[in-house]
Amino acid sequence: MCLAASSLTTMAVAQTNVQNKIAIAIHGGAGTITRANLTEEQEAAYKNAISAALDLGYAQLKAGNDGLDAIEAAIVYLEDSPLFNAGIGAVYTYDGMHELDASVMRGDTLQAGAISSVTNVKNPIKAARLVLENSVHVMLSGKGAEQFADEQGLVPVDNSVFNTQRRLEALQRAKKRIDENENKNAFLDNAEFNDFKFGTVGVVVLDANGNIAAGTSTGGMTAKRYGRVGDSPIIGAGTYADNRSCAVSATGHGEYFIRYNVAADICARMKYQGLSLETAANTVIHGVLLPAGGDGGVIAIDAAGNIAMPFNSEGMYRGSIDTNGNKTVLIYKDE
Ligand code: ASP
Repeated sequence: MCLAASSLTTMAVAQTNVQNKIAIAIHGGAGTITRANLTEEQEAAYKNAISAALDLGYAQLKAGNDGLDAIEAAIVYLEDSPLFNAGIGAVYTYDGMHELDASVMRGDTLQAGAISSVTNVKNPIKAARLVLENSVHVMLSGKGAEQFADEQGLVPVDNSVFNTQRRLEALQRAKKRIDENENKNAFLDNAEFNDFKFGTVGVVVLDANGNIAAGTSTGGMTAKRYGRVGDSPIIGAGTYADNRSCAVSATGHGEYFIRYNVAADICARMKYQGLSLETAANTVIHGVLLPAGGDGGVIAIDAAGNIAMPFNSEGMYRGSIDTNGNKTVLIYKDE
């Protein structure tokens, strides 16, 4: 009797959840991205990459696969592209290395996985997902995270795999600024510093089971020191997902996103204040973060498939495929 009742309940839940509405949004970083700063070729390259990542993620959703499959497919593509500050093309630390952060969260179970400061994991988003699925922990860092990834079958790579000339030159410029400054840490709080971190990537999805999820991957900030960890791997700051409110992936000056707990704050405003996704996301990005001095933006989705992509910087590489299948890929503020 009990069993019958419980399988009926399960069926009912399954039926309510089975729906075909799917949607995806992607960001490729925010900052001083203006028409004057990008050539036509660069603009096309970024748009093509965001578009290709959207297609990869969307194909997973269309096949009825789990939202995490879509997030992984899209983020792996962006991590492998030298255009973005994640995986290959990640920014350099002060010491000339790459230390990568990533996280992923699902909105149905609130399970989350994150890794920080890894140096030899080619696709950090895969490691973050493995933490979510195969570990009793939520966040692993440094050597331990690398050992876990290795044990999980992710073949370690040499840190130089992530090298690119463009990011090396950015490091050289950043170090010059730091070394010229009497207070060696002041640069980190300087508006100019915002130009040294473009290209964190993030994905949010609504899958065919009605579940929302979010993932983020980054190399952090150029010339970061002392094991600095940004918001991207911090659940609540750079990534959050809860089916009862929204799924969010952030990009911007991580120190602010951590202090203002940006991703979770957007979801909390929906949950406790009953705000729409758009109002909640806009309020936090323009009403809270901007006055505090934090630059950046988010992509966010709710369980109905509404999408919001607010940012308070000049531009944010971003795109979406909505529940009607309409695709948009944008870069600048005035688009
Ligand atoms: N939020 C990232 C960090 O602070 C950087 C970025 O999104 O551009 O590490």
